[in-house]
Formats: sequence, C-alpha cells, structure tokens
Amino acid sequence: MKNIFLILSFFLLFSCQNSKTLVLAENKNAAKTNFTDATFVKVNTEQTIVSDTSFVNIRDYSSGFELDMKYATKDNFLNAKVYDCAECYLRLKTVKSLIAANEDFLKSGYHLKLFDCYRPLSVQKRMWKIVSDPQYVADPAKGSIHNRGGAVDLTIVDADGKEIDMGTPFDFFGEKASHNYQNLPEKVLENRKLLKKIMLQHNFLSFDSEWWHYNLKDASHDPVSDFRWKCE
Ligand SMILES: [Zn+2]
Repeated sequence: MKNIFLILSFFLLFSCQNSKTLVLAENKNAAKTNFTDATFVKVNTEQTIVSDTSFVNIRDYSSGFELDMKYATKDNFLNAKVYDCAECYLRLKTVKSLIAANEDFLKSGYHLKLFDCYRPLSVQKRMWKIVSDPQYVADPAKGSIHNRGGAVDLTIVDADGKEIDMGTPFDFFGEKASHNYQNLPEKVLENRKLLKKIMLQHNFLSFDSEWWHYNLKDASHDPVSDFRWKCE
C-alpha cells in the first residue's frame, strides 16, 4: 500500500509537458511508461490506476452507446429487476474494443445499443435456475464471460435510436436466434451479418445460438466476479 501512495504522489508531482506521458517513480528507481492514448489513462475516485483488466463504467469513456439494460427492469426472461440500476460495467479492454467497433458502425449511420454487460455471478445463478440450458445460459459452476467482464449483449440502432430488424428480440431462446438459422428475410440476415462482421473485426467472437451475444477474445482467462456496482 505504501508503494501505491508513493507512486501516486510522484504521479501528481511530475506534471509533464506531454500529457500522454505518465511518470511512475518508486524510491530512486524511476520508470517511465508511455501510453498511446491518454483517454484511457485515468485515475478514478478511489485513486487507483485503471488498467486494461479493471472494471469500468462505459459511460465514463463514451457517450456514444444507447443503454437499455434489460436486467435493471422487469422486461426480461426472469420477469424480475435484478440490477439495482442501469449501468454497464466491463473490463477496460472490452470497453476499448466496443468503442472502436461503435466508431465503425457510425460510419454507416448506425451505433450500438447495449442490453447487458458485466453480470454478477449471483445473478448468473438465478438465471441458471430458470433456464438450465448451456445453449442459452452459462452454467454458473463454470461462470459466464459476462461474469468476467468480457461479454456484451447488443444490437444495432439507426441515427434515431431505432433498432434494425434482427429477426427476434433479445433473449429469444429458440433456434431462430441462432447465427446458423437461415430461414429469415434477406434483410434480417444482412443485418446480423453486418453486426457480426464489425464485431469480429474488433476482437470479439460471436456465439452461435444468440445473435446478440459477443465475447472479447481471450476473456475466458479473466476471473469471474460478483461485485455490485454503486448506484447514485
Ligand atoms: Zn450474453
């Protein structure tokens, strides 16, 4: 702990001309770390340095997403409000990839709408009790990528915030929601293809049985979590 305070004190003392350079100093051994994008270097209110694997609130990094956090309402398959408030927490590396993907959607006049992000393990257990089918809900014994801060449920909206047609609503548990299901109008197949193409270009992996679910690559190596975010 003492070292963390030392590092933070030096961080405050060393105000560089180039704001993208952060000087970390520990006793006599000064180390210099360059960050390519200062946007993502942030000292939060608890005065801890945020790293790529830290959980962050996406609103602190971008206002370019629509948030429709279904589990903060009763409008979900649990028919229960299981989040105290509608916030989207993810690991910082997931947020960075999502922002990059969103910028690509914007080029076509679209942007992303998020339905679910990090999900506490206790909520996963509740979901598993209702739908004990790994095709649709991950077994909490293994943990979902949502519990690791690396998964997002999302869709595409147009400039007016209107969802484009994906053939089924979010959390539709049936074969029609699968990427492999082809018996859908051409436009729906095109829309799903667009979502998948851009997400895959930004380090995400699709999930066969749910068109809305994307995992950040390698996120399965991160530990599961059960923290609850603060509500104002
Ligand atoms: Zn999901």
